[in-house]
Amino acid sequence: MNRDSIIKVALSTPVSHLFDYLPAGDIVPRPGQRVRVPFGNSQRTGVVAAVTQSTTLPRTRLRRALEILDDQPLLDAELMGLLEWSANYYLHPPGEVIAAALPAVLRRGGQAVLKKDIRWRVTAGGRDADLERLASSAPIQAKVLRAVATAPAGLTSSEMRRHTTGWQRIATALERKGWLIQEEGLPEESREAALEAGPRLNAAQAAALDEVQDQGFRAYLLEGVTGSGKTEVYLGLIQRQISAGRQVLVLVPEIGLTPQLVDRFRRRVDAPVVVMHSGLSDGQRLKAWLDSRHGHAKVVVGTRSAIFAPFTQLGMIIVDEEHDLSYKQQEGFRYSARDLAVVRARRAEIPVVLGSATPSFESVANTLAKRYTRLELPRRAGMARPPTIRLIDLRVQPAHDGLTEPLITAMQHHLDRDGQVLLFLNRRGYAPTMMCPGCGRVIECDRCDARMVLHRRPSILACHHCGTERAAPDLCPDCDHLLHPVGQGTERIEAAVERLFPEQSLIRIDRDTTRRRGEIERRLQSIRSGESRILLGTQMLTKGHDFPGVTLVGIIDADHGLFGTDFRSSERLAQTIIQVAGRAGRGERPGEVYLQTLYPDHPLLNTLLRHGYGRFALEALRERETTAWPPYSHLALLRAECAHRGPLFEFLAQARGCAERHANNSIQMLGPASSPMERRSGRYRAQLLLQSMHRRELQVFLKNWRADLSNLPSRRKTRWSLDIDPVELF
Ligand code: ADP
Ligand code: ZN
Repeated sequence: MNRDSIIKVALSTPVSHLFDYLPAGDIVPRPGQRVRVPFGNSQRTGVVAAVTQSTTLPRTRLRRALEILDDQPLLDAELMGLLEWSANYYLHPPGEVIAAALPAVLRRGGQAVLKKDIRWRVTAGGRDADLERLASSAPIQAKVLRAVATAPAGLTSSEMRRHTTGWQRIATALERKGWLIQEEGLPEESREAALEAGPRLNAAQAAALDEVQDQGFRAYLLEGVTGSGKTEVYLGLIQRQISAGRQVLVLVPEIGLTPQLVDRFRRRVDAPVVVMHSGLSDGQRLKAWLDSRHGHAKVVVGTRSAIFAPFTQLGMIIVDEEHDLSYKQQEGFRYSARDLAVVRARRAEIPVVLGSATPSFESVANTLAKRYTRLELPRRAGMARPPTIRLIDLRVQPAHDGLTEPLITAMQHHLDRDGQVLLFLNRRGYAPTMMCPGCGRVIECDRCDARMVLHRRPSILACHHCGTERAAPDLCPDCDHLLHPVGQGTERIEAAVERLFPEQSLIRIDRDTTRRRGEIERRLQSIRSGESRILLGTQMLTKGHDFPGVTLVGIIDADHGLFGTDFRSSERLAQTIIQVAGRAGRGERPGEVYLQTLYPDHPLLNTLLRHGYGRFALEALRERETTAWPPYSHLALLRAECAHRGPLFEFLAQARGCAERHANNSIQMLGPASSPMERRSGRYRAQLLLQSMHRRELQVFLKNWRADLSNLPSRRKTRWSLDIDPVELF
């Protein structure tokens, strides 16, 4: 190859450029291959992003790469293209973007060979062999042959070891006779149980399945009420892709959700299904990654970062619960996996299906504009009926420890009839406020503009923003009155329920009760098995779980979402209410939902409960359009924080000054302004919001501006980041 070639290497450092090197020897690596390079006084592993003939540096100053680590590109052109696009769009250092796509082992320079596991299978000849005759002459051979023949997926080496010592010699002898063969196999994918058949699709499911084309780019929004059988549609689509020899990527919002969904896929799909999420060990992650990279894995089910998984033959991307906030990474490389799913599908010319009972307004607007094709599942599948939702007016029905009389009566009624009860409150701890009845003082965190939350077991005050914890005082530090816990969190509801229903077993699911590994799954299992009758929890419970025994859902308090400061608060609240309510009556018995509120006349609640999420979304979108908020405009948020207010606002003022030099009048600027919670973890926070009706103009502006920001003298004293398409404004 050309001796003048220069390789441009992406290294995981927070700079926005690539690093130029000369090739290690005569062989010029290709984009996507890893190389080891000298870096300062040390060495680093990087990925070749491009090979060129030109450099802005004098050639004599270029250093030589030390070694090529892969004989083939580890990241293929499709994936490299997506990563480059992402680095450009989110204005994030390319090295860090590429690092996000690699498992830790490969990032550190580890070997990318898949340890092949050998699987022994019986041949047709082996099946016909006369076992009795063999048993009389070579009893151990007969035993091994029988063991392999009776295992439906054959036996791996380690399974053989369990059967017989010295199995290797025996297996080789049987292989020579033509009765056994070796295959490369993926042991975890062996299918012990027979495939399950799915339910017969109803008309709406069949129509949705029909409508989706198998090839070429097109985006679909599968809008199906909770329990309408969206997963069955995904399974149908997956089966079609697999029979065509292609792979499918399925994104899900939560790790907690993966085991259930993966089990279901494995029972139904006759091909290897692998999972990718942050709960895997480095080794497991590497294996899943390579399985997908080599095309063994046909279905990859993963959380956010799986959007960067490698494939040989990606045929379709499915994003379940596409409205979920967790698809947006909220620190560092702030990408949206949902948005990148559409980008990746368009670039790879494959279909993408976004599914939700409560689609994001962005996706709804895209169907209205005919950019996405809308598929609808208007009714619950099978025998399940939609739940009835009742508002309980807290002004008329006072709550004690969070529970009103009508809700308590309904709980008793459902429990008596063997139903399970789900109580939802999106606030952990015992009480969100400790107040002095004498002087009105509330106890606040010393490091944040936030109240300390009282926890009872153990008795502490905790700040949910910075993690500070201290012993809970009994008396007001100012006037010595006894402090009162005001309001309720899940611990307080738990105590009240235990008092009211001492015979019923209750399980609480929130971040405090699920810190240990496997705890979420254990708790969910106790609900599914019916062992726990009452289930209490936060947002963690709302994400797509199927609890067929739950017949009553109580929403303890949703009011704080009614008056949120973020333009998305009402969208979020509506999604939460519908998702929580959707946990009721998914089995054969009808469900009921009680929603306690101080504002039963609030227009949001009225539209939502009377006309459903779809109508609510359309009305709310009209308002977004008149006020020019997303999706009718595009946002970028410059966030900054600093231990002192002065340098923080100096930086943001300079940033605004810079922005004014670059911007034309299509870019609006709001701020600098303090963040809604100005102080957090002892640091002041403020922001500058950029808004434009034109995405492209905003992009061009941001690119120039971003370059200037990294040269502002005041940047050094602050920590800052640029968030493109922010989902939360603080
Ligand atoms: P979603 O993903 O929309 O919440 P699921 O696919 O999990 O819904 O389906 C909800 C329940 O309905 C599941 O128990 C599923 O087995 C069942 N179900 C789905 N489709 C059908 C169908 N066509 N006939 C009968 N039951 C169905
Ligand atoms: Zn704090």
